[in-house]
Amino acid sequence: MKAAKMEKIVKTFYDQLEKGKIMGRRCTACGNVEFPPVFICNKCGCFETEWIELSGKATFQSLMVANGQTQKYQDLMPYGLGAVTLEEGSEVNALIGGITPENAEEYRNKLPAGCHAKIVQRDGYKTVMFEVDK
Ligand SMILES: [Zn+2]
Repeated sequence: MKAAKMEKIVKTFYDQLEKGKIMGRRCTACGNVEFPPVFICNKCGCFETEWIELSGKATFQSLMVANGQTQKYQDLMPYGLGAVTLEEGSEVNALIGGITPENAEEYRNKLPAGCHAKIVQRDGYKTVMFEVDK
């Protein structure tokens, strides 16, 4: 039951990405927004969550790694792995485009900085990464 529900949430999330919409789940009890969407609120444990479209606006708080070593995201390079706070209040770890080991220090000096979510095409599906505002 739980697995089926999670599958449906994941499917809806990817279906909406295809349409250019980035969705999260908002808790009806405490208002916490989960992104990527999960069906239980991680803040208060409530099971009642609903879809909301995220604005995509966020603040890039800290940079952990420039060009995270994972082979998994080779196609999205260059990027860094950073902590981002969504306008909706959630804190997420996300890929931030355009960061290289060479310019990482320059980015770090500018933080916190405005950034925005960007939908990127990968092999067969779309996903979300972030980009620092110009
Ligand atoms: Zn909650």
